[in-house]
Amino acid sequence: MAMQIRIERTTAPKAKPADASKLGFGQVFTDHMFVMDYVDGIGWTDPRIVPYGPFSLDPATSVLHYGQAIFEGLKAYRTPDGGVQLFRPHANMARIQTSNDRMVIPRIDENFCVEAIKALVDVERDWVPSAPGTSLYIRPFIFSTDAFLGVRASKTYRFVVILSPSGPYYPKGLDPVAIYVEQDYVRAVRGGTGAAKTPGNYASSLKSQTEAYKQGFVQVLWLDGIERRYVEEVGAMNVFFLFGDELVTPALEGSILPGITRASVLELARGWGMKAVERRLAIDEVAERYDRGELTEVFGAGTAAVISPVGTLVWGEKRMTIHENRIGPVSQRLYDTLTGIQYGTRPDPYGWIEKV
Ligand SMILES: *Cc1c(COP(=O)(O)O)cnc(C)c1O
Repeated sequence: MAMQIRIERTTAPKAKPADASKLGFGQVFTDHMFVMDYVDGIGWTDPRIVPYGPFSLDPATSVLHYGQAIFEGLKAYRTPDGGVQLFRPHANMARIQTSNDRMVIPRIDENFCVEAIKALVDVERDWVPSAPGTSLYIRPFIFSTDAFLGVRASKTYRFVVILSPSGPYYPKGLDPVAIYVEQDYVRAVRGGTGAAKTPGNYASSLKSQTEAYKQGFVQVLWLDGIERRYVEEVGAMNVFFLFGDELVTPALEGSILPGITRASVLELARGWGMKAVERRLAIDEVAERYDRGELTEVFGAGTAAVISPVGTLVWGEKRMTIHENRIGPVSQRLYDTLTGIQYGTRPDPYGWIEKV
């Protein structure tokens, strides 16, 4: 079912950002977007690259009321030879399928969607910035479009991909962040939607994030929703703890988003001969091992930051300072290796890169 992508080019191209190194994140969008619709009885249809612009939606559009939607996030990187490449795009499209299944959104053709992303990035090739640490952020998303106020799965959907040139995540180097352990709110529960990249998870996290900001923290460390004891994620990133030579990340038991950065960190660490384990990790174990001097590094892992070192972790009255509030050697090595592969300055032994 190879579909032909129709391309309608803009007649009013925008000025590209003069200094990409000063770009923030997610504020500037390119000239075009990819759009495809799902029609009941027909399936996904009419794939097109069209000028970037707003949609007109009926006020009863189901996503506005019941949030039946999913999204993804990946980046296109400029290589030293001027090429453009993607990092594990098939993994993102495979994750769309699991998010779709959970949200009762019809499946997509993964390979076609990777082709669509490549076609869009190719049209917008000149928007991929080349200053160090910059990239073109790619945001695919799907939302339900039935204009109907009943709680049921929609019969129609729209799949969209937009692109946003983004500045370096760390303009001043990898500064460790301060995190507190959230004890009142939870992000997800087993059986819920935590393993799906669906907007409601982020809406429900905003309360906690807002409180954290007010208290001078950058993000929160989420605990499990049942016992409020087991570590789950940090903000919207997966989390890793290094105890001596054992790298631990919470096992995927249904409430954790299966990050592609997380999977890549595990593969790299295992490839280096480290003991990298996925298991339940209680916050009291973290604190005890901190007291014994065994907790040497903590970091978040996700597409946006790649690796985000945690320098301060506050759990109630207990304040833990990790690696003297500086990035540790394992975090740094993971960051350097992953970004080196992504930007094409290091070899790609795992075959993670796809050229556009
Ligand atoms: C997207 C996301 C991650 C990280 O996934 P990557 O594929 O590594 O970008 C982790 N946790 C949450 C909640 C997320 O939404």
